[in-house]
Amino acid sequence: MKAVTAVPRTAPPRDGGKSEAVKGLTPRPASPGQKGSSASGNGSAIAENPAFTAHYIRSRIGKICVAITGSTPADMLQNAERIVRENHFVEFRLDYLPNAAAILPKLKQFLYERGEVTAIATCRRASTGGKFKGTIGAELDILEKAAAAGVHLIDIELQTAEHMKPAQMKKLRSHGAALIISWHDFESTKNLDAILDRILPFQPEFVKIVSTAKTLSDNVAMMRFLDRRRDEANLIGISMGEQGIISRVLGLRAGSVFTFASALPGEETGAGQIDARTLRETWRIDQIDQSTKVYGVAGNPVRHSLSPLIHNMAFRRETVNAVFLPLQTSRLNDLLTLTREVPLHGLAITMPFKTEILKHLERTDALSQKIGACNTVVRAQDGKLYGFNTDVAAVIRPLERRLPLRGAKILVLGAGGAGRAAVFGLVEKGAEVFVWNRTAETAKKLARQAKAKTIRREQIAKSNFDVIINTTPVGMKGVKPASILEPNELNTRLVFDLVYNPIDTPLIRMAREKGLPVITGVEMFVHQGARQFEIWSGKPAPEEEMLRVVVHALRQESARQEPSKEH
Ligand code: NAP
Repeated sequence: MKAVTAVPRTAPPRDGGKSEAVKGLTPRPASPGQKGSSASGNGSAIAENPAFTAHYIRSRIGKICVAITGSTPADMLQNAERIVRENHFVEFRLDYLPNAAAILPKLKQFLYERGEVTAIATCRRASTGGKFKGTIGAELDILEKAAAAGVHLIDIELQTAEHMKPAQMKKLRSHGAALIISWHDFESTKNLDAILDRILPFQPEFVKIVSTAKTLSDNVAMMRFLDRRRDEANLIGISMGEQGIISRVLGLRAGSVFTFASALPGEETGAGQIDARTLRETWRIDQIDQSTKVYGVAGNPVRHSLSPLIHNMAFRRETVNAVFLPLQTSRLNDLLTLTREVPLHGLAITMPFKTEILKHLERTDALSQKIGACNTVVRAQDGKLYGFNTDVAAVIRPLERRLPLRGAKILVLGAGGAGRAAVFGLVEKGAEVFVWNRTAETAKKLARQAKAKTIRREQIAKSNFDVIINTTPVGMKGVKPASILEPNELNTRLVFDLVYNPIDTPLIRMAREKGLPVITGVEMFVHQGARQFEIWSGKPAPEEEMLRVVVHALRQESARQEPSKEH
């Protein structure tokens, strides 16, 4: 432990008999009419006693602080009204306002009326990543007035603290608000210890260190740092960016006192920030503890994957102490480091790793070896990684429910990872499988390996099939809406489209128009996820519930996109 420390996070209140006040009282800001420093609800006793202040604040807050933005004082306070219904710990980003001082009288009234709210005031300057265009002096003036208005914590950057004279610091702290000294690195995750060493001499009640994760392993660096230095300060540690999401969820158990969330999706104040409801309800961060097992979907892109939604729901429903995260990376080594270091208990593998992962597994099921692709990894008690392919069963089972596969004539469009799973699985079930692929050579290779046949495009319209399966991404959201086949090529008794977003792809719609029964990609998606859940948890998957949440999410997504189509 270092000689100079910030307020130790474990320190008991040094106020003798006053500790009762912590349990029993929620000091409020003085009525808005009152003047002077005593107007602060945090009280001078707290100001003189930093450890007490930190202890008191920690007794009021939960694990999530929601950032509040707005373009005018009225807008910001309206947002605050909405947010504090669910979250009592908030950060007012005063730097988002063109004239930050204008909100202060109303903020004082707001805090006076809502004694349950704990508020941070932040007025970050543009040079340190915020939006405030003023000088350090102007920033300090606003924060001091915010403290007088009753905010419980004020946040200044380390760069600001290092420019302040002792008298300025004394003035800033004179209203009793706790001090957070922050550091933001928008490029990397490095020198975390050195930054903390620079902050500690200021003895703030809280220290916030925010880095940027460029790799998944950067989360490990942040969590190790939190764990190593958690006894020296009330630390808040987060790595920003798509790849830093893990730190927002697991940083708490590593030692971060709380984490930041946006009020709603789309209102983020930091890259990679998650909205409060998702953090609480999907990822259940209030329940995460040292024994929570960690799983994730690994690949690129995975930010919008629905796997976290179905697996976190299933874990909650089946009372499994586990969390499932998106693990965005294009580097397999990075993923393997994270898997070893966190450690992760299981992985859903997606593009581009389904084949590349095989050589890092202790063993795989026979089908994964044959197909050359694995979509599910489990970490056994011996710490070794084992692979499975649940895509195969997810193609076969929905079909088996509808027709006998032995002798069925099936056309598979595409010969990528999903196409290979379909072809190998169907051949094994005794179906007569025809493969068509945009790149004919790949189709030939797959047909040769799996003992299937190839078919030329012009033959498709002249043939009849029991099932046609699309395993290409044609029809997927984000790609120009198109069907992989023309209506005259759809000579079949059943159509199965693996694409699941949107649910009703152009191919599915065309099949319905022809009166053909269909299987949508959602059915496969839920099926492969359900089998993964069973491999990981050893419990039967709540499949109907998984289907319900996916369909709901996809329908909501397309409803959100519907109006924008008009423009
Ligand atoms: P992949 O390995 O990249 O294979 C893509 C295949 O589609 C290749 O055969 C490729 O042909 C073909 N293709 C790509 N663009 C095409 C186009 N414009 N026209 C014709 N053919 C085209 O991808 P994957 O992992 O197999 O995934 C394929 C699709 O299946 C994705 O949409 C994925 O979301 C979906 N999927 C769904 C589930 C589910 O649970 N529902 C599970 C797995 C996959 P070339 O060889 O010529 O490049």
